[in-house]
Amino acid sequence: MSLNSATSAAVIVEPSAGIRHVTQIYGRLLLIGFALAPAYLIAYLYFFQDPSLKFENHLFHEIAIAAATLEGLFVTYVTWQCYRLSGEPILRWLTLGFAGFVVIYTLHGVFTGFSHRNIWLFLLYGPASRLVMSILLLVGLLSYKSPPDPVAKRSDPWTWLTWLIGFLAVDLFVAVIAYSPYAASLGTRLSMEGGALVISLVNVGLMLWRRIRSPLMLIFGISVMSFALSSLAFILGKPWNHMWWLAHAIFAGGFFLLSFGVVQAFHTTRSFSTIYSQDELMARLAEAKARTEAALQELQHTNQKLEHLAAIDPLTGAVNRRIFLERVETEIGRVKRGEAPFSLLALDLDNFKRINDTFGHQVGDSVLKAFVQTCLEAIRPYDGVARVGGEEFMVLLPQAALDVALMVGERIRMSIQGTRFDAMGTDPFSVTVSIGISQFGQDGNSIDALLRAADQRLYRAKSHGRNCVIAV
Ligand code: GH3
Ligand code: MG
Ligand code: MG
Repeated sequence: MSLNSATSAAVIVEPSAGIRHVTQIYGRLLLIGFALAPAYLIAYLYFFQDPSLKFENHLFHEIAIAAATLEGLFVTYVTWQCYRLSGEPILRWLTLGFAGFVVIYTLHGVFTGFSHRNIWLFLLYGPASRLVMSILLLVGLLSYKSPPDPVAKRSDPWTWLTWLIGFLAVDLFVAVIAYSPYAASLGTRLSMEGGALVISLVNVGLMLWRRIRSPLMLIFGISVMSFALSSLAFILGKPWNHMWWLAHAIFAGGFFLLSFGVVQAFHTTRSFSTIYSQDELMARLAEAKARTEAALQELQHTNQKLEHLAAIDPLTGAVNRRIFLERVETEIGRVKRGEAPFSLLALDLDNFKRINDTFGHQVGDSVLKAFVQTCLEAIRPYDGVARVGGEEFMVLLPQAALDVALMVGERIRMSIQGTRFDAMGTDPFSVTVSIGISQFGQDGNSIDALLRAADQRLYRAKSHGRNCVIAV
């Protein structure tokens, strides 16, 4: 694994910091270009189209607004669902923004037929709905990343009802203005449309200033920019002319885009702030991968430690019976492939119980440890010593026939016999060992047969007066 990544790192050279920087700038310029796309259309109409050309079709307008109302209701519902599940304040404001827009803008469609009786009753609901929505979206941005609302607050019908009453009050207020002498003044329409424009621009400006770059907020920003540009087109347009229709289309585009963001949230985390950018996801992925690899390494290390603990006798450091038998199996395999036979030594300390009884268990322990050291010094590095019982051991001698094994056994016996042990307050003492030996092939071809033969000879060594080695 690490070898692979090392090789690929050597072959694939990462692009230079310069080109990464340039592509980043290019990406940002493209985003700005997309966000400003409606401006090119506005400029085109403004410079090349006769503003007196009109398309006055009431039915078309009514159908378009009816469709916008249905779409608006649907988007409001989906946004509310996201808010209900995530509790994010920005989604609460977005829900209110959509709801407010629908409640006010619908009357713009309803009063299409009034365009010749009271043009203001028809016209003013448009800018009023955009102004209300832009304010609510701005408040939404200001609450971006605020802690989630408590669950009880999310579905409280009274809060929503209060807002609904507020929106209906705006409807009434617009009607009152439409019938007042102020309706005709340019300031009324311009202050609403211009207000929506400025508030949307402030919204986008704040986003840039706070460097909010998450994918859904990017969609939010581009949509709000569309709303700003649609207000600009409404200001430049006249009822029923092409700029006026274009303004509708730009607004609809922004609305669709924002609802696309909401649907993305709905199908993923139901939240606007926990949808991460690809860069962030890659960084999180790399972090998680590093953590997993570290955990894996620690696990391997722990496994090795556990394996070691499970294989080694903690007192003497010799391997245990299980590992010893595995090694004997391996040796049997080797001999079967044509290598020289091996031998086994079964060793048992003589009268060990008496050592314990005389000098204490601790002294007995140090004798056991010293015995294993004596064995290790007497054998070759690839031979092995195992502790198979309390004071019982076995030695494996690969590629050693009985005569060699006998020599090694004698060496161990003499060496331990010559070792002086000191117990505090007593005279030095020594220990002896009895040893039985068997050889693969000569004494059998299975582990059982070999162990049995070595044990029988050890038993005979004991009955021969101990401190001796028996190989036949
Ligand atoms: P023999 O010559 O017939 O083998 O006599 P023995 O006393 O060595 O044999 P026996 O089987 O009667 O006693 C073995 C003793 O080994 C008994 C037990 O207390 C001791 N022993 C077993 N494991 C340990 C250990 O881990 N530490 C110590 N100190 N003593 C042990
Ligand atoms: Mg014993
Ligand atoms: Mg013994």
